[in-house]
Amino acid sequence: MKIVCIGGGPAGLYLSVLARLRSGGRDEVVVAERNERGTASGFAVTLGEDVLDEFFRTDPVGAERVRAAAHMWDSQVVEVAGERVHLGGRYGYAIGRARLLELLAERAEELGVTLRHGTAAAAGGDVAADPLTADADVVVAADGVNSAVRTARAPAFGTRVAHGANRYAWFGTGKRFRPFTFAFEPTEAGWVWFHAYPAADCPSTCIVECAPETWTGLGLDRMDPGEGRRLLERIFARALDGHQLIAPPGVDASPWLRFREIRTMSWRDGNVVLAGDAAHTTHFAIGSGTVLAVSDAIVLAEHLYPRGSTGTDDVEAALAGYDACRRAAMAPVHQLARASMEWFETVPARLATADALEFSWSLLDRRHDQGRLNQRLHRATQVESIRRVRRGLTTARRVRRALRRKEINPRLTLR
Ligand SMILES: Cc1cc2nc3c(=O)[nH]c(=O)nc-3n(C[C@H](O)[C@H](O)[C@H](O)COP(=O)(O)OP(=O)(O)OC[C@H]3O[C@@H](n4cnc5c(N)ncnc54)[C@H](O)[C@@H]3O)c2cc1C
Repeated sequence: MKIVCIGGGPAGLYLSVLARLRSGGRDEVVVAERNERGTASGFAVTLGEDVLDEFFRTDPVGAERVRAAAHMWDSQVVEVAGERVHLGGRYGYAIGRARLLELLAERAEELGVTLRHGTAAAAGGDVAADPLTADADVVVAADGVNSAVRTARAPAFGTRVAHGANRYAWFGTGKRFRPFTFAFEPTEAGWVWFHAYPAADCPSTCIVECAPETWTGLGLDRMDPGEGRRLLERIFARALDGHQLIAPPGVDASPWLRFREIRTMSWRDGNVVLAGDAAHTTHFAIGSGTVLAVSDAIVLAEHLYPRGSTGTDDVEAALAGYDACRRAAMAPVHQLARASMEWFETVPARLATADALEFSWSLLDRRHDQGRLNQRLHRATQVESIRRVRRGLTTARRVRRALRRKEINPRLTLR
């Protein structure tokens, strides 16, 4: 079988790794990435336990490298105009996007994948016209949120696009956050806030967000990017301890975006299949885009290479199975992401009536998945000694999980 992945992001690269592993090195696998190697947008992405479990289950060798490069944040706080509230029992991992892509690319190469960086495949989304994709048995369109393949085959994929109301921009900052921090600051035009977390191999990520009327009220829609950053640095002087914001690499124009929610009614058309952001996007407040891209790759590989075989005899059935399985799995994720996005669109109204503790509870419960007991626990977590106990319990849980997935170095979990 010949598989060509259009796009060398997490979805395309991880599918290529698994295809070589599961075919026992038999199948030809090519990844075409239009960017040169080593160029990646953005700063760090967050990873949770579930995706680490999946990495270890599907490729323990590569997983150990990703885990060793990932930085663990072991607490989460909400700061409302400088008043700090602790969210107990929360932790996660972050890794620079560039580092993650390089680790996946190295692993793919080591397994015999042909990597073609600097190669824009299937111009205009036409896979039949490009010799690279024309003779492939499977073309994986892992070409990201603006997927040309999805656009070219819009009727087959049934794409729907919706926009979030808020404006946001991805920045980096030199401030080394220890906890994952949500900071909310008042301005004369309304509240502005950021979601920030540390990484080991790049500046901390700092995503700034606000309501559209605050964005225009502050003049951020009209300012040049440098002026806009300086204004935000003044607004967040307390939360950033005077550190500067860093523009996303390669973005000279306005960094401001509105979240674009992509949903597709089908993920396959003939031998062309969508994966990752090309198939779906979820709001960044649930920090799942990379995780979902990797999950797509895993499920696609499991359908193309059923257990006990080195490849399917029936590509069409395999793609149909992947499509049905992943679309069903995405439905609840879409709901959670939508609830999370809508919560952030109501921040100004909530801050007008709630104190910092109440507000932080509603942030924690924004997907309506916390019970009454957790609400009482949230209050108790503001007491230092209770926080210490919770942290101890969380560490024990974390170590148990690391041991269960057979991390070679579970000491990483204690740092
Ligand atoms: C700044 C930033 C921060 C993020 N933070 C998080 C986070 O904390 N946690 C999280 O889980 N997710 C996060 N995400 C989302 C996450 O990065 C994406 O969901 C994830 O990268 C999707 O992976 P993908 O492989 O589907 O697409 P992408 O990573 O977008 O990769 C698609 C690739 O296809 C290439 N391409 C496009 N067209 C062609 C073509 N014609 N030929 C060849 N190559 C092509 C592009 O150059 C790109 O490299 C973040 C995204 C950004 C931008």
